[in-house]
Amino acid sequence: MAKQIILGMIPAVFIFLMFLGYNVAPFMLFALVIAGILYLMTRQGDLNLKSQKNAYQVIEKTDITFEAIGGQKRAKQELKEALDFLIRQDDTKKYGIRPLKGILLAGPPGTGKTLMAKAAANYTNSAFVAASGSQFVEMYVGVGAKRIRQLFKQVKEQAQKNGQDSGILFIDEIDVLGGKREGQNQREYDQTLNQLLTEMDGITTSDSPRILLIAATNRKDMLDDALLRPGRFDRHIQVDMPDKQAREEILKIHVRNKPLADDVDLSRIAQETFGFSGAQMESVANEAAIYAFREKKEVIEADHFSRAIDKVMMGERTDRESTREERERVGIHELGHAIVSEVLRPESVSQVALHPRGQALGYVRQTPGEDRYLYTKDYLEQQIMIALGGAVAEEIRYGNRSTGSKNDFDKALQLVRTMVDCGLSELGIVHLDMVDKQALQQESNRILNELLDKTRQLLARYESVLNRGLQILIEEEVLNGSEFRQMLKNESMLHA
Ligand code: ATP
Repeated sequence: MAKQIILGMIPAVFIFLMFLGYNVAPFMLFALVIAGILYLMTRQGDLNLKSQKNAYQVIEKTDITFEAIGGQKRAKQELKEALDFLIRQDDTKKYGIRPLKGILLAGPPGTGKTLMAKAAANYTNSAFVAASGSQFVEMYVGVGAKRIRQLFKQVKEQAQKNGQDSGILFIDEIDVLGGKREGQNQREYDQTLNQLLTEMDGITTSDSPRILLIAATNRKDMLDDALLRPGRFDRHIQVDMPDKQAREEILKIHVRNKPLADDVDLSRIAQETFGFSGAQMESVANEAAIYAFREKKEVIEADHFSRAIDKVMMGERTDRESTREERERVGIHELGHAIVSEVLRPESVSQVALHPRGQALGYVRQTPGEDRYLYTKDYLEQQIMIALGGAVAEEIRYGNRSTGSKNDFDKALQLVRTMVDCGLSELGIVHLDMVDKQALQQESNRILNELLDKTRQLLARYESVLNRGLQILIEEEVLNGSEFRQMLKNESMLHA
Protein backbone atom coordinates (compact mmCIF):
# COMPACT_ATOMS: atom_id res chain seq x y z
CA MET A 1 0.00 0.00 0.00
CA ALA A 2 2.78 2.41 1.05
CA LYS A 3 4.53 1.52 -2.22
CA GLN A 4 1.47 2.59 -4.26
CA ILE A 5 1.16 5.91 -2.36
CA ILE A 6 4.83 6.73 -2.98
CA LEU A 7 4.52 5.79 -6.68
CA GLY A 8 1.42 8.01 -6.98
CA MET A 9 3.15 10.94 -5.32
CA ILE A 10 6.14 11.00 -7.68
CA PRO A 11 4.27 12.44 -10.77
CA ALA A 12 2.49 14.93 -8.49
CA VAL A 13 5.86 16.20 -7.19
CA PHE A 14 7.19 16.53 -10.75
CA ILE A 15 4.11 18.55 -11.90
CA PHE A 16 4.40 20.78 -8.84
CA LEU A 17 8.09 21.45 -9.56
CA MET A 18 7.28 22.23 -13.21
CA PHE A 19 4.73 24.85 -12.08
CA LEU A 20 7.35 26.45 -9.92
CA GLY A 21 9.51 26.78 -13.06
CA TYR A 22 12.15 24.08 -12.40
CA ASN A 23 13.63 22.09 -15.29
CA VAL A 24 12.58 18.54 -14.27
CA ALA A 25 13.66 16.74 -17.49
CA PRO A 26 17.00 15.34 -16.12
CA PHE A 27 15.27 14.10 -12.93
CA MET A 28 12.53 12.45 -14.97
CA LEU A 29 15.05 10.71 -17.18
CA PHE A 30 16.96 9.46 -14.13
CA ALA A 31 13.75 8.23 -12.47
CA LEU A 32 12.72 6.42 -15.67
CA VAL A 33 16.06 4.58 -15.92
CA ILE A 34 15.89 3.47 -12.26
CA ALA A 35 12.26 2.34 -12.65
CA GLY A 36 13.20 0.38 -15.78
CA ILE A 37 16.03 -1.43 -14.01
CA LEU A 38 13.85 -2.30 -11.02
CA TYR A 39 11.07 -3.57 -13.28
CA LEU A 40 13.43 -5.81 -15.24
CA MET A 41 14.93 -7.24 -12.04
CA THR A 42 11.60 -8.20 -10.48
CA ARG A 43 10.32 -9.54 -13.79
CA GLN A 44 13.38 -11.72 -14.21
CA GLY A 45 13.02 -12.97 -10.65
CA ASP A 46 9.39 -13.85 -11.26
CA LEU A 47 10.21 -15.52 -14.55
CA ASN A 48 12.84 -17.62 -12.83
CA LEU A 49 10.38 -18.49 -10.14
CA LYS A 50 7.82 -19.55 -12.72
CA SER A 51 10.27 -21.58 -14.76
CA GLN A 52 11.47 -23.32 -11.62
CA LYS A 53 7.98 -24.05 -10.39
CA ASN A 54 7.75 -26.88 -12.85
CA ALA A 55 11.35 -27.95 -12.30
CA TYR A 56 10.56 -29.75 -9.05
CA GLN A 57 9.99 -33.38 -9.60
CA VAL A 58 6.52 -34.26 -8.38
CA ILE A 59 6.05 -37.97 -8.42
CA GLU A 60 2.48 -39.18 -8.21
CA LYS A 61 3.44 -42.62 -6.98
CA THR A 62 6.97 -43.96 -6.60
CA ASP A 63 7.23 -47.65 -7.32
CA ILE A 64 10.72 -47.95 -5.80
CA THR A 65 10.70 -50.21 -2.76
CA PHE A 66 13.45 -50.94 -0.26
CA GLU A 67 13.89 -54.32 -1.97
CA ALA A 68 15.04 -52.50 -5.12
CA ILE A 69 18.01 -51.10 -3.20
CA GLY A 70 20.96 -53.46 -3.02
CA GLY A 71 23.18 -53.56 0.08
CA GLN A 72 22.78 -50.64 2.51
CA LYS A 73 21.31 -53.02 5.07
CA ARG A 74 22.03 -50.81 8.08
CA ALA A 75 20.98 -47.58 6.37
CA LYS A 76 17.71 -49.12 5.20
CA GLN A 77 17.01 -50.46 8.67
CA GLU A 78 17.66 -47.09 10.32
CA LEU A 79 15.54 -45.28 7.77
CA LYS A 80 12.62 -47.69 8.16
CA GLU A 81 12.74 -47.29 11.93
CA ALA A 82 12.62 -43.52 11.58
CA LEU A 83 9.76 -43.74 9.12
CA ASP A 84 7.73 -45.85 11.51
CA PHE A 85 7.35 -42.67 13.58
CA LEU A 86 5.61 -41.07 10.64
CA ILE A 87 3.33 -44.04 10.05
CA ARG A 88 2.41 -44.52 13.70
CA GLN A 89 1.49 -40.89 14.32
CA ASP A 90 -1.23 -41.63 16.87
CA ASP A 91 1.10 -43.66 19.09
CA THR A 92 3.82 -41.03 18.97
CA LYS A 93 1.29 -38.33 19.85
CA LYS A 94 0.16 -40.41 22.85
CA TYR A 95 3.70 -40.50 24.18
CA GLY A 96 4.20 -36.81 23.48
CA ILE A 97 7.05 -37.53 21.08
CA ARG A 98 7.81 -34.51 18.94
CA PRO A 99 7.36 -35.05 15.21
CA LEU A 100 10.26 -36.21 13.16
CA LYS A 101 10.94 -33.32 10.83
CA GLY A 102 14.08 -34.07 8.92
CA ILE A 103 16.25 -37.03 7.98
CA LEU A 104 19.69 -36.43 6.54
CA LEU A 105 21.19 -39.04 4.23
CA ALA A 106 24.93 -38.55 4.03
CA GLY A 107 27.27 -40.39 1.71
CA PRO A 108 29.25 -40.40 -1.53
CA PRO A 109 27.55 -39.77 -4.90
CA GLY A 110 25.68 -42.61 -6.55
CA THR A 111 25.19 -44.73 -3.44
CA GLY A 112 21.39 -44.71 -3.63
CA LYS A 113 20.33 -41.75 -1.47
CA THR A 114 17.66 -40.64 -3.95
CA LEU A 115 16.46 -44.22 -4.23
CA MET A 116 16.14 -44.38 -0.43
CA ALA A 117 14.02 -41.21 -0.35
CA LYS A 118 11.74 -42.59 -3.03
CA ALA A 119 11.45 -45.92 -1.22
CA ALA A 120 10.63 -43.97 1.96
CA ALA A 121 7.71 -42.28 0.16
CA ASN A 122 6.48 -45.64 -1.00
CA TYR A 123 6.89 -47.27 2.42
CA THR A 124 4.91 -44.51 4.15
CA ASN A 125 2.43 -43.98 1.30
CA SER A 126 3.40 -40.32 1.08
CA ALA A 127 3.28 -37.80 -1.72
CA PHE A 128 6.80 -37.20 -3.05
CA VAL A 129 8.30 -33.98 -4.31
CA ALA A 130 12.03 -33.75 -5.13
CA ALA A 131 14.24 -30.72 -5.66
CA SER A 132 17.93 -30.00 -5.67
CA GLY A 133 19.76 -27.47 -3.50
CA SER A 134 21.09 -25.71 -6.58
CA GLN A 135 17.54 -24.81 -7.66
CA PHE A 136 17.36 -22.36 -4.76
CA VAL A 137 20.49 -20.45 -5.48
CA GLU A 138 19.62 -17.20 -7.23
CA MET A 139 21.19 -13.81 -7.45
CA TYR A 140 17.83 -12.12 -6.82
CA VAL A 141 17.14 -11.57 -3.17
CA GLY A 142 14.10 -13.40 -1.90
CA VAL A 143 13.61 -15.77 -4.85
CA GLY A 144 15.21 -18.76 -3.12
CA ALA A 145 13.11 -18.19 0.00
CA LYS A 146 9.95 -17.94 -2.11
CA ARG A 147 10.81 -21.22 -3.76
CA ILE A 148 11.18 -22.92 -0.39
CA ARG A 149 7.70 -21.71 0.65
CA GLN A 150 6.34 -22.86 -2.67
CA LEU A 151 7.91 -26.28 -2.32
CA PHE A 152 6.38 -26.93 1.11
CA LYS A 153 3.03 -25.74 -0.24
CA GLN A 154 3.35 -27.99 -3.25
CA VAL A 155 4.05 -31.16 -1.29
CA LYS A 156 1.05 -30.45 0.97
CA GLU A 157 -1.20 -29.86 -2.03
CA GLN A 158 0.07 -33.00 -3.69
CA ALA A 159 -0.65 -35.13 -0.61
CA GLN A 160 -4.14 -33.60 -0.29
CA LYS A 161 -4.79 -34.20 -3.98
CA ASN A 162 -3.77 -37.85 -3.63
CA GLY A 163 -5.73 -38.25 -0.39
CA GLN A 164 -2.53 -39.17 1.49
CA ASP A 165 -1.81 -38.41 5.16
CA SER A 166 1.79 -37.41 4.59
CA GLY A 167 4.17 -35.89 2.11
CA ILE A 168 7.93 -36.33 1.70
CA LEU A 169 10.01 -33.48 0.44
CA PHE A 170 13.39 -34.57 -0.86
CA ILE A 171 16.16 -32.01 -1.27
CA ASP A 172 19.29 -33.35 -2.92
CA GLU A 173 22.62 -31.50 -2.49
CA ILE A 174 21.33 -29.70 0.62
CA ASP A 175 24.88 -28.40 1.21
CA VAL A 176 24.41 -25.96 -1.69
CA LEU A 177 21.68 -24.12 0.19
CA GLY A 178 22.49 -25.08 3.76
CA GLY A 179 26.26 -24.69 3.90
CA LYS A 180 28.00 -23.01 6.84
CA ARG A 181 27.31 -19.26 6.95
CA GLU A 182 30.47 -17.22 6.89
CA GLY A 183 31.02 -13.52 6.28
CA GLN A 184 28.39 -10.84 5.81
CA ASN A 185 27.66 -10.61 2.15
CA GLN A 186 25.20 -13.43 1.68
CA ARG A 187 21.76 -11.93 2.11
CA GLU A 188 20.01 -14.04 -0.48
CA TYR A 189 21.65 -17.21 0.70
CA ASP A 190 20.79 -16.49 4.34
CA GLN A 191 17.18 -15.75 3.51
CA THR A 192 16.79 -19.07 1.71
CA LEU A 193 18.30 -21.05 4.57
CA ASN A 194 16.28 -19.12 7.15
CA GLN A 195 13.10 -19.83 5.22
CA LEU A 196 13.90 -23.53 5.25
CA LEU A 197 14.50 -23.42 9.01
CA THR A 198 11.25 -21.51 9.52
CA GLU A 199 9.27 -24.01 7.46
CA MET A 200 10.81 -26.89 9.40
CA ASP A 201 10.05 -25.24 12.71
CA GLY A 202 6.46 -24.83 11.55
CA ILE A 203 5.93 -28.58 11.22
CA THR A 204 3.80 -29.82 14.12
CA THR A 205 2.32 -33.15 15.20
CA SER A 206 -1.20 -31.93 14.46
CA ASP A 207 -0.41 -30.97 10.86
CA SER A 208 -2.39 -32.73 8.23
CA PRO A 209 -0.94 -33.87 5.93
CA ARG A 210 2.31 -34.38 7.87
CA ILE A 211 5.45 -33.27 6.09
CA LEU A 212 8.81 -34.96 6.37
CA LEU A 213 11.93 -33.50 4.87
CA ILE A 214 14.61 -35.87 3.61
CA ALA A 215 17.85 -34.25 2.50
CA ALA A 216 20.93 -35.74 0.91
CA THR A 217 24.50 -34.55 0.94
CA ASN A 218 27.99 -35.84 0.38
CA ARG A 219 29.46 -32.95 2.41
CA LYS A 220 27.88 -33.30 5.83
CA ASP A 221 30.79 -31.43 7.40
CA MET A 222 29.85 -28.36 5.34
CA LEU A 223 26.32 -28.03 6.73
CA ASP A 224 25.30 -25.12 8.93
CA ASP A 225 24.90 -26.11 12.58
CA ALA A 226 21.42 -24.58 12.66
CA LEU A 227 20.25 -27.27 10.23
CA LEU A 228 21.64 -30.10 12.30
CA ARG A 229 20.37 -29.10 15.71
CA PRO A 230 17.73 -31.26 17.47
CA GLY A 231 14.27 -30.72 16.08
CA ARG A 232 15.52 -30.17 12.55
CA PHE A 233 17.70 -32.69 10.71
CA ASP A 234 18.34 -34.70 13.82
CA ARG A 235 18.38 -38.15 12.22
CA HIS A 236 21.57 -38.73 10.30
CA ILE A 237 21.87 -41.86 8.25
CA GLN A 238 25.19 -42.77 6.66
CA VAL A 239 24.87 -44.27 3.18
CA ASP A 240 28.22 -45.92 2.44
CA MET A 241 29.95 -47.24 -0.66
CA PRO A 242 28.89 -50.85 -1.19
CA ASP A 243 31.16 -53.73 -0.13
CA LYS A 244 31.60 -56.84 -2.26
CA GLN A 245 28.39 -58.52 -1.17
CA ALA A 246 26.41 -55.32 -1.63
CA ARG A 247 27.89 -54.82 -5.10
CA GLU A 248 26.74 -58.31 -6.03
CA GLU A 249 23.24 -57.57 -4.72
CA ILE A 250 23.08 -54.32 -6.70
CA LEU A 251 24.25 -56.14 -9.81
CA LYS A 252 21.58 -58.81 -9.33
CA ILE A 253 18.93 -56.08 -9.22
CA HIS A 254 20.17 -54.51 -12.44
CA VAL A 255 20.56 -57.73 -14.45
CA ARG A 256 17.09 -58.98 -13.54
CA ASN A 257 15.69 -57.89 -16.89
CA LYS A 258 18.77 -58.88 -18.91
CA PRO A 259 19.61 -62.20 -20.66
CA LEU A 260 22.89 -63.56 -19.23
CA ALA A 261 25.21 -66.23 -20.63
CA ASP A 262 26.16 -69.15 -18.40
CA ASP A 263 29.76 -67.94 -18.11
CA VAL A 264 28.74 -64.75 -16.28
CA ASP A 265 29.80 -64.93 -12.64
CA LEU A 266 28.22 -62.03 -10.73
CA SER A 267 30.29 -62.72 -7.63
CA ARG A 268 33.50 -62.35 -9.63
CA ILE A 269 32.28 -59.13 -11.23
CA ALA A 270 31.51 -57.81 -7.75
CA GLN A 271 35.06 -58.72 -6.74
CA GLU A 272 36.56 -56.95 -9.75
CA THR A 273 34.69 -53.75 -9.04
CA PHE A 274 36.16 -52.70 -5.69
CA GLY A 275 35.47 -49.03 -5.08
CA PHE A 276 32.49 -48.84 -7.47
CA SER A 277 29.32 -47.08 -6.30
CA GLY A 278 25.79 -48.38 -6.86
CA ALA A 279 25.40 -46.03 -9.82
CA GLN A 280 28.62 -47.40 -11.36
CA MET A 281 27.38 -50.98 -10.87
CA GLU A 282 24.19 -50.06 -12.69
CA SER A 283 26.33 -48.59 -15.43
CA VAL A 284 28.42 -51.79 -15.72
CA ALA A 285 25.25 -53.87 -16.23
CA ASN A 286 23.93 -51.40 -18.79
CA GLU A 287 27.19 -51.06 -20.74
CA ALA A 288 27.63 -54.85 -20.86
CA ALA A 289 24.13 -55.12 -22.37
CA ILE A 290 25.04 -52.44 -24.94
CA TYR A 291 28.16 -54.38 -26.01
CA ALA A 292 26.07 -57.55 -26.45
CA PHE A 293 23.43 -55.61 -28.39
CA ARG A 294 26.05 -54.06 -30.71
CA GLU A 295 27.47 -57.50 -31.45
CA LYS A 296 23.95 -58.87 -32.01
CA LYS A 297 24.53 -61.58 -29.37
CA GLU A 298 21.50 -63.36 -27.88
CA VAL A 299 22.91 -63.13 -24.36
CA ILE A 300 25.35 -60.94 -22.43
CA GLU A 301 28.67 -62.73 -21.98
CA ALA A 302 31.43 -62.50 -19.35
CA ASP A 303 33.64 -60.66 -21.84
CA HIS A 304 30.99 -57.95 -22.29
CA PHE A 305 31.01 -57.40 -18.53
CA SER A 306 34.77 -57.32 -18.49
CA ARG A 307 34.83 -54.59 -21.14
CA ALA A 308 32.03 -52.73 -19.39
CA ILE A 309 34.09 -52.62 -16.17
CA ASP A 310 37.05 -51.18 -18.11
CA LYS A 311 34.80 -48.59 -19.65
CA VAL A 312 33.22 -47.49 -16.38
CA MET A 313 36.64 -47.44 -14.69
CA MET A 314 38.62 -45.66 -17.38
CA GLY A 315 36.22 -44.32 -19.99
CA GLU A 316 35.41 -45.41 -23.54
CA ARG A 317 38.11 -46.57 -25.95
CA THR A 318 39.24 -43.61 -27.95
CA ASP A 319 40.44 -43.41 -31.54
CA ARG A 320 43.36 -41.21 -30.62
CA GLU A 321 46.01 -41.70 -33.28
CA SER A 322 49.53 -42.09 -31.98
CA THR A 323 52.90 -42.62 -33.61
CA ARG A 324 54.67 -45.98 -33.46
CA GLU A 325 57.30 -44.38 -31.25
CA GLU A 326 54.65 -43.24 -28.78
CA ARG A 327 52.95 -46.61 -28.78
CA GLU A 328 56.24 -48.34 -28.03
CA ARG A 329 56.93 -46.03 -25.12
CA VAL A 330 53.45 -46.58 -23.70
CA GLY A 331 53.90 -50.35 -24.12
CA ILE A 332 57.19 -50.31 -22.21
CA HIS A 333 55.66 -48.10 -19.53
CA GLU A 334 52.69 -50.41 -18.98
CA LEU A 335 54.90 -53.51 -19.01
CA GLY A 336 56.98 -51.84 -16.31
CA HIS A 337 53.91 -51.53 -14.07
CA ALA A 338 52.84 -55.07 -14.90
CA ILE A 339 56.21 -56.71 -14.17
CA VAL A 340 56.61 -55.00 -10.78
CA SER A 341 53.02 -55.87 -9.90
CA GLU A 342 53.34 -59.55 -10.86
CA VAL A 343 56.73 -60.05 -9.18
CA LEU A 344 55.63 -58.43 -5.91
CA ARG A 345 52.12 -59.92 -5.98
CA PRO A 346 52.02 -63.09 -8.04
CA GLU A 347 48.83 -63.62 -10.10
CA SER A 348 47.90 -59.95 -9.82
CA VAL A 349 47.96 -59.03 -13.53
CA SER A 350 45.05 -60.12 -15.65
CA GLN A 351 45.81 -58.10 -18.79
CA VAL A 352 48.16 -55.50 -20.25
CA ALA A 353 46.54 -53.40 -22.95
CA LEU A 354 47.89 -50.91 -25.43
CA HIS A 355 44.74 -49.21 -26.64
CA PRO A 356 43.82 -45.72 -25.55
CA ARG A 357 40.92 -45.54 -23.14
CA GLY A 358 39.65 -42.36 -21.49
CA GLN A 359 42.73 -40.31 -20.66
CA ALA A 360 45.08 -43.33 -20.59
CA LEU A 361 47.09 -44.47 -23.59
CA GLY A 362 47.39 -47.99 -22.22
CA TYR A 363 46.66 -49.80 -18.97
CA VAL A 364 47.27 -52.81 -16.78
CA ARG A 365 44.21 -54.61 -15.52
CA GLN A 366 44.67 -56.10 -12.08
CA THR A 367 43.18 -59.40 -10.97
CA PRO A 368 40.67 -58.69 -8.23
CA GLY A 369 41.67 -59.30 -4.65
CA GLU A 370 39.59 -59.11 -1.51
CA ASP A 371 38.09 -55.71 -0.59
CA ARG A 372 40.68 -53.92 1.53
CA TYR A 373 40.18 -51.13 4.00
CA LEU A 374 43.43 -51.43 5.98
CA TYR A 375 46.92 -51.25 4.48
CA THR A 376 50.26 -52.28 5.94
CA LYS A 377 53.52 -50.43 5.34
CA ASP A 378 54.71 -53.25 3.05
CA TYR A 379 51.54 -53.07 1.02
CA LEU A 380 51.85 -49.30 0.56
CA GLU A 381 55.50 -49.62 -0.44
CA GLN A 382 54.61 -52.26 -3.02
CA GLN A 383 51.89 -50.00 -4.32
CA ILE A 384 54.42 -47.16 -4.70
CA MET A 385 56.85 -49.46 -6.53
CA ILE A 386 54.09 -50.52 -8.94
CA ALA A 387 53.31 -46.86 -9.61
CA LEU A 388 57.00 -46.07 -10.24
CA GLY A 389 57.44 -49.16 -12.46
CA GLY A 390 56.27 -47.34 -15.60
CA ALA A 391 58.80 -44.51 -15.37
CA VAL A 392 61.64 -46.87 -14.40
CA ALA A 393 60.93 -49.13 -17.40
CA GLU A 394 61.13 -46.07 -19.68
CA GLU A 395 64.47 -45.15 -18.08
CA ILE A 396 65.86 -48.65 -18.65
CA ARG A 397 64.80 -48.75 -22.27
CA TYR A 398 65.31 -45.11 -23.37
CA GLY A 399 67.56 -43.65 -20.70
CA ASN A 400 64.95 -40.98 -19.95
CA ARG A 401 61.36 -40.49 -18.75
CA SER A 402 58.32 -38.86 -20.35
CA THR A 403 55.30 -36.80 -19.24
CA GLY A 404 53.29 -40.04 -19.21
CA SER A 405 54.34 -40.65 -15.60
CA LYS A 406 52.65 -37.58 -14.14
CA ASN A 407 49.64 -39.47 -12.77
CA ASP A 408 51.82 -42.28 -11.43
CA PHE A 409 53.96 -39.78 -9.52
CA ASP A 410 50.86 -38.08 -8.11
CA LYS A 411 49.67 -41.46 -6.92
CA ALA A 412 53.07 -42.34 -5.42
CA LEU A 413 53.24 -38.99 -3.59
CA GLN A 414 49.74 -39.49 -2.25
CA LEU A 415 50.77 -42.91 -0.92
CA VAL A 416 53.90 -41.44 0.69
CA ARG A 417 51.70 -38.83 2.34
CA THR A 418 49.44 -41.58 3.68
CA MET A 419 52.50 -43.36 5.09
CA VAL A 420 53.69 -40.23 6.90
CA ASP A 421 50.19 -39.38 8.08
CA CYS A 422 49.70 -42.86 9.52
CA GLY A 423 52.99 -42.90 11.42
CA LEU A 424 54.62 -45.38 9.02
CA SER A 425 57.63 -43.23 8.10
CA GLU A 426 60.88 -42.44 9.89
CA LEU A 427 59.31 -39.21 11.14
CA GLY A 428 57.38 -41.35 13.63
CA ILE A 429 53.87 -40.51 14.77
CA VAL A 430 53.22 -36.98 13.56
CA HIS A 431 50.42 -34.74 12.42
CA LEU A 432 51.03 -33.46 8.91
CA ASP A 433 50.35 -29.88 10.05
CA MET A 434 53.10 -30.17 12.65
CA VAL A 435 55.85 -31.28 10.28
CA ASP A 436 57.71 -28.49 8.54
CA LYS A 437 57.72 -28.57 4.77
CA GLN A 438 61.42 -29.23 4.45
CA ALA A 439 61.37 -32.24 6.79
CA LEU A 440 58.36 -33.62 4.94
CA GLN A 441 60.08 -33.10 1.61
CA GLN A 442 63.26 -34.83 2.86
CA GLU A 443 61.38 -37.85 4.20
CA SER A 444 59.28 -38.07 1.07
CA ASN A 445 62.43 -38.00 -1.09
CA ARG A 446 64.10 -40.61 1.06
CA ILE A 447 61.16 -43.03 0.77
CA LEU A 448 60.76 -42.44 -2.97
CA ASN A 449 64.47 -42.75 -3.77
CA GLU A 450 64.77 -45.95 -1.81
CA LEU A 451 61.79 -47.44 -3.59
CA LEU A 452 63.00 -46.15 -6.97
CA ASP A 453 66.27 -48.03 -6.44
CA LYS A 454 64.45 -51.20 -5.49
CA THR A 455 62.21 -50.89 -8.56
CA ARG A 456 65.26 -50.35 -10.80
CA GLN A 457 66.96 -53.48 -9.42
CA LEU A 458 63.79 -55.52 -9.88
CA LEU A 459 63.10 -54.41 -13.45
CA ALA A 460 66.71 -54.74 -14.56
CA ARG A 461 66.33 -58.50 -14.10
CA TYR A 462 63.42 -58.61 -16.54
CA GLU A 463 64.64 -56.46 -19.41
CA SER A 464 64.05 -59.25 -21.90
CA VAL A 465 60.40 -59.51 -20.78
CA LEU A 466 60.07 -55.81 -21.55
CA ASN A 467 61.31 -56.48 -25.09
CA ARG A 468 59.29 -59.60 -25.81
CA GLY A 469 56.14 -58.24 -24.17
CA LEU A 470 56.40 -55.12 -26.28
CA GLN A 471 56.54 -57.13 -29.51
CA ILE A 472 53.24 -58.82 -28.66
CA LEU A 473 51.63 -55.57 -27.53
CA ILE A 474 52.54 -53.77 -30.75
CA GLU A 475 51.20 -56.63 -32.86
CA GLU A 476 48.12 -57.59 -30.87
CA GLU A 477 47.38 -54.64 -28.56
CA VAL A 478 46.74 -56.94 -25.60
CA LEU A 479 48.82 -59.37 -23.60
CA ASN A 480 46.78 -61.62 -21.38
CA GLY A 481 47.74 -62.47 -17.82
CA SER A 482 48.68 -66.13 -18.30
CA GLU A 483 50.82 -65.44 -21.37
CA PHE A 484 52.58 -62.70 -19.45
CA ARG A 485 53.13 -64.90 -16.41
CA GLN A 486 54.65 -67.61 -18.61
CA MET A 487 57.17 -65.09 -19.98
CA LEU A 488 58.13 -64.05 -16.47
CA LYS A 489 58.46 -67.66 -15.37
CA ASN A 490 60.79 -68.50 -18.27
CA GLU A 491 62.90 -65.50 -17.40
CA SER A 492 63.03 -66.42 -13.70
CA MET A 493 64.13 -69.96 -14.61
CA LEU A 494 66.96 -68.53 -16.67
CA HIS A 495 68.09 -66.56 -13.60
CA ALA A 496 67.72 -69.53 -11.26
P1 ATP B 1 23.88 -38.34 -5.82
O1 ATP B 1 24.51 -38.04 -4.51
O2 ATP B 1 24.84 -38.21 -6.98
O3 ATP B 1 22.57 -37.67 -6.05
P2 ATP B 1 22.58 -40.74 -4.98
O4 ATP B 1 23.28 -41.29 -3.79
O5 ATP B 1 21.31 -40.00 -4.76
O6 ATP B 1 23.58 -39.91 -5.84
P3 ATP B 1 21.00 -42.37 -6.67
O7 ATP B 1 20.55 -41.24 -7.54
O8 ATP B 1 20.04 -42.90 -5.70
O9 ATP B 1 22.34 -41.96 -5.95
O10 ATP B 1 21.54 -43.56 -7.56
C1 ATP B 1 21.75 -43.43 -8.96
C2 ATP B 1 21.43 -44.74 -9.65
O11 ATP B 1 22.39 -45.72 -9.25
C3 ATP B 1 20.09 -45.31 -9.26
O12 ATP B 1 19.08 -44.88 -10.12
C4 ATP B 1 20.32 -46.81 -9.37
O13 ATP B 1 20.13 -47.23 -10.68
C5 ATP B 1 21.77 -46.97 -9.03
N1 ATP B 1 22.00 -47.34 -7.62
C6 ATP B 1 22.72 -46.63 -6.72
N2 ATP B 1 22.76 -47.27 -5.54
C7 ATP B 1 22.04 -48.39 -5.68
C8 ATP B 1 21.70 -49.47 -4.81
N3 ATP B 1 22.14 -49.49 -3.53
N4 ATP B 1 20.92 -50.46 -5.29
C9 ATP B 1 20.49 -50.44 -6.57
N5 ATP B 1 20.79 -49.47 -7.44
C10 ATP B 1 21.55 -48.45 -7.02
